Amino acid sequence: MFEKILIANRGEIACRIIDTARKKGIKTVAVYSTVDARAKHVRLADEAYEIGGAEATESYLNMEKIIEVAKTSGAEAIHPGYGFLSENETFAAMCENEDIRFVGPTADVIRLMGLKDQAKAAMQTADIPVVPGYDGENQEEDHLLQQAKSIGFPLLIKAVAGGGGKGMRLVNSETEFLPALASAKREAMASFANDRVILEKYIRKSRHIEVQVFADKVGNVVYLHERDCSLQRRHQKIVEEAPAPDLSEDMRFEIGETATKAAKAIKYRGAGTIEFIVDVENGLKDAPFYFMEMNTRLQVEHPVTELITGIDLVEWQLRVAAGERLPLTQDDIKLNGHAFEVRLYAEDPSNEFLPQTGTLYHFSHPQENQNFRLDAGVDQGDEVTIYYDPMIAKLIVWGQSRVEALRHMRRVIKDTAIAGVKTNLEFLYSIFNHKSFNVADIDTGFIDRYIDELTSREEQSFVPVLALASLTELMPHTDGNDIWDWSDGWQLNHNLKVKQTFVENGSSYDLDVTYLRDGFSIELDGSSYEVKLLKQSQDEIHILLDDKKVSGRVIKMQHDFTIFCDGMVSYLHHFIPGADERDSGKIDGNVVTPMPGKLSKLLVDNGASVSQGQSLLVLEAMKMEHTIKAPADGVVAFAGISEGAQIADGQLLLRIGEANG
Ligand code: ADP
Ligand code: ADP
Ligand code: MG
Repeated sequence: MFEKILIANRGEIACRIIDTARKKGIKTVAVYSTVDARAKHVRLADEAYEIGGAEATESYLNMEKIIEVAKTSGAEAIHPGYGFLSENETFAAMCENEDIRFVGPTADVIRLMGLKDQAKAAMQTADIPVVPGYDGENQEEDHLLQQAKSIGFPLLIKAVAGGGGKGMRLVNSETEFLPALASAKREAMASFANDRVILEKYIRKSRHIEVQVFADKVGNVVYLHERDCSLQRRHQKIVEEAPAPDLSEDMRFEIGETATKAAKAIKYRGAGTIEFIVDVENGLKDAPFYFMEMNTRLQVEHPVTELITGIDLVEWQLRVAAGERLPLTQDDIKLNGHAFEVRLYAEDPSNEFLPQTGTLYHFSHPQENQNFRLDAGVDQGDEVTIYYDPMIAKLIVWGQSRVEALRHMRRVIKDTAIAGVKTNLEFLYSIFNHKSFNVADIDTGFIDRYIDELTSREEQSFVPVLALASLTELMPHTDGNDIWDWSDGWQLNHNLKVKQTFVENGSSYDLDVTYLRDGFSIELDGSSYEVKLLKQSQDEIHILLDDKKVSGRVIKMQHDFTIFCDGMVSYLHHFIPGADERDSGKIDGNVVTPMPGKLSKLLVDNGASVSQGQSLLVLEAMKMEHTIKAPADGVVAFAGISEGAQIADGQLLLRIGEANG
């Protein structure tokens, strides 16, 4: 086994790898970019070296520099994690040439599986079923359009070099094809410097079921069962589980054996994932499944496999890389219980899931135990920057059954609080409370189909949140851990009336608050509610709202509140008339960037008349495209911006003015 390894990655996966290395007594070397100098993976590693600027191309993708650090630090192997250099054949080859072990398959295999067209061809040769479509050389528009027509619609355009759902477009009809092709190619070029695409028949009702395989260098191959990753948004996984619910033992065996056969056919080595798409139009029983792609690395969702098999995949990776044989044979790999993982992102579900950046002013979560595992790349106080993936952490639970695991996840999400950046916590909670999800009635269209349900709230449910905010603002002291003594100064305030205005997500709420003898009443939109404080300890508050108990967590930053209450996460601003520049200038048609990025395309001309909701420009940020839409009808005036421009956070992009004459 190695004495020392270098981890060529950052965030949660770097921390995850360090964790296993430490358990095995292996020393760890971290590398970091200038903005990551104080990042968690740097804090955890035994040694750490700066390798360049914030842009990944200058640091985490800087191959020469990383190899140089491996040599100077005496690391015998490099673990690439996922993303970045993990599927980079040049890097794998460089490592081998420098006599540093690359923790992963050989460069040849990475190359073969790296491009979707080649990978599909190799699988067909090995007699593995693949999705029908076009994966030829000819990339001319006309030719692709002809091919698309013969495949039929709907179909998928996929970047051959794609990953993480990038460079992929669903096309429903012929007229949508060429614009979608252009957009897919643009995104593919920006993300992968390769704009070639394949076309695939779109399977209307499908489940994403993938198999974890493992191989050693003497040709032993096993599968560690499957994961179901059908819950996706924009073809990106959000929730993963293992095993795949309702999969019959026969099909589990068949899909596992097929994956093993695929890995053997390409002489695979190490950890890999074979992704299948299962056509569930006629149910899951005996459903046809097709090879989609192979990821030649550790996968983001590997922890669910670890929890149901009891195997540490990173440990196996290191053992295989060090030349050991697989520790277990197929028959020894058991499947126990059920696991879920959710990806906790810094993003705003109420605003088209725009990635968020900022400082994690607050981050608290339940204690880890046998039912809950947290894989995080950040701690409270850390930054989420524009430069890297906005994933903050993964929440992973295990239960004896799916139903038990669901319960654990609901509790864990409910008891996790993050303030400073908006997150998808509430959205995840909605998923775990959805009826269909609870009975495993899932497919890859689940999130799109239920998006309105998953992102909307009942009117009434917001009152407790307002009550918590109101009370927090009224409390004379918030530093005590004891029950607040209501008699303290209370009599003085007897019958006092206060007005409060809270703004959430563009809506404002005007509260008339009246102090009563043992609490106060809130009037809102003609209804009246009575509030009594039960207990307050740090940021946790328990109240009686019209005699019903309400508990929540209130994180306050000046006049901004993040409130966690019954799975709801609310971002409130206490509007104070006069003192509030920020809110007063909002409604005049100014459009400000929601986040920094590059302006990749203007969709209308300066001075054009537009209608509300019309797409105005495309912003490229966090490696994704975001379309900015008109907030109102009117005439566009761009604020001196042009295609290709770098846009700073909060920069004015344009104004929508009234049409002249
Ligand atoms: P899939 O490739 O099937 O989506 P995963 O769900 O494991 O598999 O997602 C990993 C993908 O996400 C990578 O292929 C990469 O494109 C992207 N990615 C992963 N980690 C990072 C990271 N730290 N920074 C940027 N992109 C990342
Ligand atoms: P990536 O490399 O970005 O992970 P994949 O080829 O693995 O791309 O596809 C990502 C997701 O897109 C799949 O998990 C699935 O939900 C959906 N998808 C891919 N191919 C098809 C298809 N032919 N029909 C329907 N959905 C598909
Ligand atoms: Mg994939």
